[in-house]
Order: sequence, then structure tokens, then C-alpha cells
Amino acid sequence: MTPERLRIDIDRLVRRLMELGRIGAIEGTTGCARLALTDDDKAGRDLVWTWMDELGLDITTDGIGNVVATMPGFDPAMAPVMTGSHIDTVATGGKYDGNLGVLAGLEVIETVLTSGRELQRPLAVGWFTDEEGARFPPDMLGSLVYVGGMPLEQALEITDDDDVSLGDELDRIGYRGAAPTPGRVPHAFVELHIEQGPVLEDEDITIGVVEGVQGISWTELTLTGQSCHAGTTPMRLRHDPGYVAADVTTFVRQLTADLGGAQVATVGAVTLTPNLVNVVPSTARMTVDLRNTDDEVLQLAETRFRGHVAKVAEQEGVGVETRTLARFEPVDFDARLIELVETGARERGFSFKRMPSGAGHDAQMFARICPTAMIFTKSVDGISHNVNEYTEPIDLEAGANVLLDTLLALTEMEFA
Ligand SMILES: [Zn+2]
Repeated sequence: MTPERLRIDIDRLVRRLMELGRIGAIEGTTGCARLALTDDDKAGRDLVWTWMDELGLDITTDGIGNVVATMPGFDPAMAPVMTGSHIDTVATGGKYDGNLGVLAGLEVIETVLTSGRELQRPLAVGWFTDEEGARFPPDMLGSLVYVGGMPLEQALEITDDDDVSLGDELDRIGYRGAAPTPGRVPHAFVELHIEQGPVLEDEDITIGVVEGVQGISWTELTLTGQSCHAGTTPMRLRHDPGYVAADVTTFVRQLTADLGGAQVATVGAVTLTPNLVNVVPSTARMTVDLRNTDDEVLQLAETRFRGHVAKVAEQEGVGVETRTLARFEPVDFDARLIELVETGARERGFSFKRMPSGAGHDAQMFARICPTAMIFTKSVDGISHNVNEYTEPIDLEAGANVLLDTLLALTEMEFA
């Protein structure tokens, strides 16, 4: 006899999303700002911790502040089926990015516990520190440390723009825990996330079955020239880093057209010093974000970009300092889990399509250590990292129910 199909409680899930979203709320908007390890991040952590605790889950915190809550009553040696995401946001964040994955995981666990359904393996839900990397680069830092991709000591020394270290901030908000890193290897990992892009809405599809994640390359350039008077200095005598920054910006746009396919490129931050109307700047600091699903093409993009920077900087007589802020290869998710997600969507009667993720996610770190997949739900107007980020409750419910089905199926699946 097949057991009755469980359903998550969408009202409870939305209530929690709204309550968490009130912490760090940006006045006059529906968005919120909870940069990693700030007071608001701590308040968000404390709230979700309380919910986990109310369900009687076993909660652990590791040395970088990742928090994992596991169903009690199982052999401690048994690896859990894990889900989760992050609850830090960017400065102009919404209520759904990351938060959905954590709170939907909690909702799935509450649904199972309330039903009295007996599982062969425990479920666990986690949130991972500094996924956004908006305060402490690189992004996905907590999950990177969890899977052993960076030593804890190195991560703790990373500083923000005010030279405050991640380790000090963890201590300050009381989230430097004792659980070891690398953390325990889950049986499998599945993350539910908003798409953060326009594809599902554009094609009127409910569930995105995520096949993998684009490779990411973040570079910071510090261009140093010669500050001088904008009126008295002839053009031929200038060493203008602002000009080089602009040239590099148009170059990477052209590069995407030349390489075609999935290549994208973004100059998201440019800071000129002294940033005055009548002064040729002395320095320009800029970031370049390159992404592709194909690592060979991504490497080609990086090579051409670096070559161009060197050439134009030399022509202008401007010095270049290059710092890699993040570099992640493209990730392919597990074919067996991708099929499980698809089956869940099909059996619930939702339209679905396979797609890559354009953004980085904690799940791509877990793909290094266990079978992993992701589920996407629609983002209205494709908007994310923006206060107007929104997903309809009906889509949140669809995503969370597919997450439920997938996690339950994984408790019964053994991998060779
Ligand atoms: Zn996210």
C-alpha cells in the first residue's frame, strides 16, 4: 500500500517567510537587508533557530556559523538527507532568496513530523553562512568550508570593507560553534530556490529542474594612474584609470557577443578616486563577473579579458593589480536526483523543464561530496537581489511540495 501523499502547509510557510523578512526590513519597501554576521543576520538566525528548536530538532553550529538541524531519534551514524540554503541577504535583498530554501526545508520536516510518518533516514535542514559573499568574499563561503573546500582558519581571517574579520564577527554575534568542518557528509542534498531569473515565468512553467550551475569567475581590478587637473592636462599626458575601466567595461560586453552561447559578463562595481567632476582620477577599482556553463569557454573569456586589460592599461600608462575574488567551475548535478525532482513535479501535475542555474548556490558545494540537485520556482518579472523580489504563494507551495517528495524518496534510495 502506498502511503498517503503528504502536503506542506503553505500558510505556515508564507507566515514564516514574512516574519523572517521583517528582520532587517528596508523601510518603504517589501525588501530586507541582512548582510552576513550583522546584528540583523543574528536576529534572523535567532528566529529560525527558535523554530528549529520548537520542533525538537538536534541543532549543531560549526566553526563558521553554519547551522544544521536534524530530526531526532535516529542512529547518529546514519547520514541524513539534507536540504537548506542561506538566510543572509544582499543590501538590497528580498524575502525569498535563500530564505525559501531554509524555511521550506523546515516546513517539510514539520509536515513529516506532524504526519507521524516513519522514515528510514533522518531529514536535516541547514543554513550556510555568508552565501551572498556581499560582505565577506567569496560567495557560498559557509558551504565551501562545510564541504572542505577552504580551511576554516583561512575563512575566519577574511575581512569586510571595514577590515572587520569574519571570525571576530562570528564571536560577536555568538555563532562560532563547535561542530567540526568539514561537516558530516549527507546521504544526499537538495536545495529549493527561487529562479532569480525570467525563464520560468516567460515560458509559464511551474518547476525548474536544475541540471547544474554555471561556472563563476570574479575579478577585482585596481587601476592606478595619475590624478591631475581636468582642464590643464593635455590628453596625451594623461594616465587615466577611469578611461581604462570604461574600456574594459565595453570590452567584456563585446566579448559575450564574440563568444556567444551562455557567456555572460558584468561590471557591477566601479569606484573612482577622488570621484570629482574636474579631476582625472588617480585610481579606479572595478569588478568583473564572468560566467559560463562551459568551463573551457569560461577560461577563454578569462584569458581574453586579462589580455585586454594588460594591453589597454599599458597603452594608457596605468598600473594594474588583479585579485581573484571567486572562481568556481561549472557543476553538474546528480542524474538520479534530477530524475527524482522531475518525477515529483510530474506526479503533482506541475509543468517543468530542465535548466541550468545562472546564479551560484550552496547546493553546488554539496555536489562535491554527495548526490545533489536543485529545484527552482518562478520569480515574478525575474527580479532578485532587489527589494521587489516576489514569488506567488502557489509557486512557493508547488516548489515546497516537490522538495517534500524528493526528500522523502531520497530517504529510501541507496546509492552504490
Ligand atoms: Zn540564494
